[in-house]
Formats: sequence, C-alpha cells, structure tokens
Amino acid sequence: MPVSKKIQGMLSRSSWIRKMFEEGLLLRQKLGPENVFDFSLGNPNVPPPTEFDSALRDVAGQTLPGQHGYMPNAGYPETREAIAGYLGRKFKVPLTFEHIIMTCGAAGALNVTMKTILDPGDEVIIPTPYFVEYGFYVDNAGGVARLVPTKEDFGLDLEAIRSAFTERTRAVLINSPNNPTGRVYDAETIRGLAAILEEKERLYNRAVYLVSDEPYNEIVYDGVELPSIMEFCRNSIIAYSYSKCLSVPGERIGYLALHPELAELKDVLGGMIFCNRILGFINAPALMQRVISRIQGVQVNVGEYQRKRDLLCEGLRSCGYSFAKPEGTFYLFVRSPVDDDVAYVRALQKRGILTTPGVGFGGPGYFRIAYCVDDATIRNALPGFAETMMESGGR
Ligand code: PLP
Repeated sequence: MPVSKKIQGMLSRSSWIRKMFEEGLLLRQKLGPENVFDFSLGNPNVPPPTEFDSALRDVAGQTLPGQHGYMPNAGYPETREAIAGYLGRKFKVPLTFEHIIMTCGAAGALNVTMKTILDPGDEVIIPTPYFVEYGFYVDNAGGVARLVPTKEDFGLDLEAIRSAFTERTRAVLINSPNNPTGRVYDAETIRGLAAILEEKERLYNRAVYLVSDEPYNEIVYDGVELPSIMEFCRNSIIAYSYSKCLSVPGERIGYLALHPELAELKDVLGGMIFCNRILGFINAPALMQRVISRIQGVQVNVGEYQRKRDLLCEGLRSCGYSFAKPEGTFYLFVRSPVDDDVAYVRALQKRGILTTPGVGFGGPGYFRIAYCVDDATIRNALPGFAETMMESGGR
C-alpha cells in the first residue's frame, strides 16, 4: 500500500464528519433525497450577504497592474490594513497591518502557526471536545497534542489546564464559540487562562502562546458578548476565517492576527510569513483578499441560525433529549440517550438522520447536530429523532 502507515492510521481514526457525509450520499440513493436529513457537515446554508456579492462583482470588473501576480507572502498590505483597522477597534488593541497575515482559511492559519512555533515534541494543550483536525495540524508540525477534558457544562477546566503544562508546552489552543459544543468562554475564564499562561511562562522561562481559533466569532446568540482575547492576553494569536461569517468556505480566506506585544513578535511574524509559503499555499487567494478588504464587519444574518437553533432545541427537548443550549456556532452537542454514541448515531441513520458521534470530537457519549440546514430538514427530522429516542429506552 503506497499510503504511509501514519496516514493510514489517521484515516482510520479521523473524520467521522466526512464519513457520515459520504454515507449520506449513499443513503439518498437508497431512501430518496427527501427522506434524508443531513446534519453532518458544518457547511453554512444561510446565503452570503449581498455586500459580498457586490464587492465580488466590483473587484472582478477591475483591471489593476499585476492583479494576478505573486504578492508579498503575508498578503496585500491594503487588505491587512483594512483588517487591522477593524480589529483594532473590535479587540481594543493598537493593531497595524504588520500584525496581520492573510491565510487560506482558519485551517491554513493554524497550520502556519503550529509549523512556526513548534519544535518536534513540543506540546499543545487542547480542551476537549474539540475540532479533531487540530490533532493533525499539531502533528503536521511534529508537535504533540495534550487533550484536556472540559467541565460538565463544556466550560474550560482551568485547574486541569494548569496541571497539563510541562516544560514542553508551547501553546494552548482554544475555540470559542466552540465546535462542537456551541459554548462561549466568558471574560473571567479568558482572564484566568491568561494568568496561567503567564505563570507557566515565568516558571519554564519560555514563551507560551494562547492560540484562539475563531471562525465562529460573529455567530453568537441572545446578545452574548464574546470577550476580546487580545484585551486579556498579551501572548495571543487569533486564527480567523471568513468561511462561516460570510458563508464562503470554498473560497479559502482567513487571517492570523498577532498581539502587538506578543513575545518575540518579529521572529514569530517572520516565521509565519515564511511558513505561509513553504506549506504550499504561497499566499491567500488574491481575488478574495481584494473582496474582503471592502466589507470588513459585514456578516451573514445570524438571526437565521438563532431561529434554527430554537426550532431544533424546542423540538428535541419535547422528545426528551438533553443538551446545553448553544450560545453560538451552528452546532448542537446532544447527550446520547444510550452510552454508545456511535450505536445511537447508527440508529438515527436508519431513519435517514445523519449526525456525527461525539467520539469523533473526543467527546464520547454525545452526538453533534450541524443545524446549518433548511428549516424543513429540522422539522421533518423531528419525528425520527422522537422515534429513535423511544426505541432506545433513553437513559
Ligand atoms: N476551526 C474550526 C473550529 C472549524 O469548525 C473549522 C471548520 O469547520 C475550521 C477551523 C476550518 O475552517 P476553514 O475551513 O475556514 O479553514
């Protein structure tokens, strides 16, 4: 077999999400598309804002010198300038274009970060449940993921994080609003985490970074306030993507933002710009950089996702499911009525309902519903959710 043993191992452990999505395609042939309710993939279904379409049209109609050429690996200075101006106000820190690096989505941003800051064997603390690709990103850079469970309510367990530090810890990687739980970490939690980082930095006498993966930054509900990580943590690196807030994941556009007082800022920036090149992307897509520089602060209609969340939560509660109501994202992490979440997901699948087992996120005993789908899909799936619950006997 020409595929390396390492990748074979990763393939077999990884991507329940993709597996369910692919099984869904087969199920559509078997049951008919109208009888399949696909909640497997976080592919946004609320349309991109009209501002995105008009910016794209304008930019596509322009003729500029060198517009299809190579550019600085960090991206167009004017795009970085526009982002720095917007973020400076939002994050309450004085950012300039030099603190921003354009990337191929959040996935590109995180890979560039890990490649830049990790030596082989360096450790990254990751709270679970988590976006499983993180483990692969850390491994891509020769690092080691140290998984630390969150509390019962999926809030960060700061004491567990403190105990997971070693002299090899280089970063803590968090994601709020969280995929898969929909949890948002409040200001007090971030302040507490920042204090632990500082304490450990002094203890081990080396820089420890807080990497905050924020592709769902704007998708929060009920007036929940997302704290500015940069306001509380000097050693913070934000990985962002426009995939979810503009509904454009296929366009591969995002950025890295570095705190102006980050430890060894110049070296880290230089390393990241270099890694943006050697990981094979070279730079983030030119056309998209020109589009997004015109529409800073524009986002999809988040109210639509909130409505879907409410529809789903009310429907599932009335048939006896238990879960913490998401404060953001478009995911619901539901307690599996039986211990074996994979078996429960298989039982739902028999009724044409595709979800992802919690074990695929390092959170066994739960399953994830991605509710970025039509309202009709949610409504029509509810009877199947109710029947599967009754059949299982519940917990
Ligand atoms: N981080 C999280 C938590 C995600 O859910 C995703 C995608 O679903 C990504 C990163 C990757 O985002 P992108 O496709 O924009 O690179």
